[in-house]
Amino acid sequence: MENLDLRADCARCAGLCCLALSFDRSSLFAIDKAAGHPCPHLDDCAACTIHLRRAELGFRGCIEFDCLGAGQRVTQEIFKGRNWIEDRSLLGPMCQAFTTVLRAHECLLLLREAKILPLSSFDRQRLAELQTAIENAGASIQLVEALRSETSRFLSSLQSYFRDDPEGERLNLLRTS
Ligand code: SF4
Repeated sequence: MENLDLRADCARCAGLCCLALSFDRSSLFAIDKAAGHPCPHLDDCAACTIHLRRAELGFRGCIEFDCLGAGQRVTQEIFKGRNWIEDRSLLGPMCQAFTTVLRAHECLLLLREAKILPLSSFDRQRLAELQTAIENAGASIQLVEALRSETSRFLSSLQSYFRDDPEGERLNLLRTS
């Protein structure tokens, strides 16, 4: 199965990146924000009130961030369209699910990228199995973390395919994280 959309669709999300993630005051963010606290620029509909002026107001980091489709998946698939603004009891669970699914989607992106390598049929099969397992892991922290480690080991085992490929550096990021 490779049906998961790894492109963000903010219109179908409940502002989860603006809630779940932390950021530090820097050249990318004008303020400090702790994980699990809504950004003060979010409105009651989970929309950014400064969306068109984010760069101008010091929130370039928001523009650069990509949830890889984790936000809408958590909102629509896992929480069935409910959201933490209407039901505050969902705030913690949605944050947790978002960070977990984001990590899963990061793995899926790397696996999709690895598909361009001239893999042996054994490795291609292994890659497909990992993809399916990650896609089916939902927001289970234990499962996703175990599969993330497995993905990291698998990608490391592919070093010989891309030793001279700059893409190798990217795959290494996952291995060392
Ligand atoms: S500035 Fe806008 S996009 Fe950035 S975290 Fe706040 S609400 Fe979200």
